[in-house]
Amino acid sequence: MSFIDDDSYLSQDISEADPAVARLLGAELDRQSDTLEMIASENFTSQAVLQAVGSVLTNKYAEGLPGKRYYGGCEVVDEVEQLAIDRALELFGADHVNVQPHSGSTANEAAYAATLAPGDRVLAMALSHGGHLSHGLKVNFSGKLYEFHHYGVRRSDQYIDMDQVREMARELRPALIVAGASAYPRIIDFPAFREIADEVGARFMVDMAHIAGLVAAGVHPTPVGIADIVTTTIHKTLGGPRAGMVMCNADLAAKVDKAVFPGLQGGPLMHVIAGKAVAFGQALTPEFRARQQAVVDNCAALADELMEGGLDLVSGGTDNHLVLVDLSATPLTGQEGEDRLDRAGITVNKNGVPFDERPPTVTSGLRIGTAALTTRGLREPEMREIAQVIVAALRPEATEADLEALRARSRAVGDRFPLYPRLHAGTAV
Ligand SMILES: *Cc1c(COP(=O)(O)O)cnc(C)c1O
Repeated sequence: MSFIDDDSYLSQDISEADPAVARLLGAELDRQSDTLEMIASENFTSQAVLQAVGSVLTNKYAEGLPGKRYYGGCEVVDEVEQLAIDRALELFGADHVNVQPHSGSTANEAAYAATLAPGDRVLAMALSHGGHLSHGLKVNFSGKLYEFHHYGVRRSDQYIDMDQVREMARELRPALIVAGASAYPRIIDFPAFREIADEVGARFMVDMAHIAGLVAAGVHPTPVGIADIVTTTIHKTLGGPRAGMVMCNADLAAKVDKAVFPGLQGGPLMHVIAGKAVAFGQALTPEFRARQQAVVDNCAALADELMEGGLDLVSGGTDNHLVLVDLSATPLTGQEGEDRLDRAGITVNKNGVPFDERPPTVTSGLRIGTAALTTRGLREPEMREIAQVIVAALRPEATEADLEALRARSRAVGDRFPLYPRLHAGTAV
């Protein structure tokens, strides 16, 4: 009998060990390939990142920080985490970073824990105007632990109302002011927030989850060096594995590290941290910077063509990777719009628009982003064609047959840009 037993529990390929899950992995690869992915918070990570995340590092416990662990055998993962840290600092230029948060929400939880006591007052953007649920939604940990108040955008032009931010800050004297959004198509004026925070003696935090890739590439102004603390996801425009991180000024470093571990988390996901190191390495290249510029250029072309087709956009356009289509003036709801685009082969999400009169389960808007398709290789001509498909699909008179024909058109656009051609068809690994 040989010591090498390919049929052993440890060596079995997923297609033999678990055909049901293997089939679903293949089905999801097909779905991602066969549709046009325009959810603004999504992206395609590189095969190199997929390999890191699917590696033996998932086996390792490494509570603590590089050189200061609570477990033996950490000499290799110490190097992995140090690489991720060094590259993150090179990419964004912060004093300090903790690369262990499992997600963007956890990164925010750590940032609040490092800067606030329970019950402290915080001023952040309203979810209904583009904010995030981890910025004080009542049913979220943030809204339960801290006293959040919310600013929004102006009715007139749908840009963030900095006068309202200043007034609310003066009145409420918050301990922390938060900037950052999940559905805001314009550049955020970080220096203006900083000035207000200084005036009222608040700390200033930026959650750049959506725009981190643009910031890394210099396509959106950076909050690093302006805010006291900056949180982000790694998987949105930044294009890395699904996870988060916290950057901060030197004076908050120890507090941030303690907030992450032992404050919130146990063992870090070392395989995901390896994926972060790979993604940061890729983000330091000129190719990445050019691609982020293309994300913004693509979005401008998409916006232009959507408006040309008669659709209203929140704030009348975009400066970043996303647009918000406002369907209030049409007979369609956001939910109906999402369903129609789904049938036309384009994946987006319904999204409230500022001052939306419909409930969050229905909404009057669609959030559409260009990060994923730009990573896949699509450029302005394709964006214009996709915008025409979107306009046609959202026409009130569009029939089921029309949507079917539009689906074929979407598929033809996508087929010109093969997704992960080296992955095994059928199992996606
Ligand atoms: C996506 C997002 C998050 C949360 O990220 P998760 O990884 O889903 O927890 C936090 N803040 C903002 C602004 C986001 O857009």
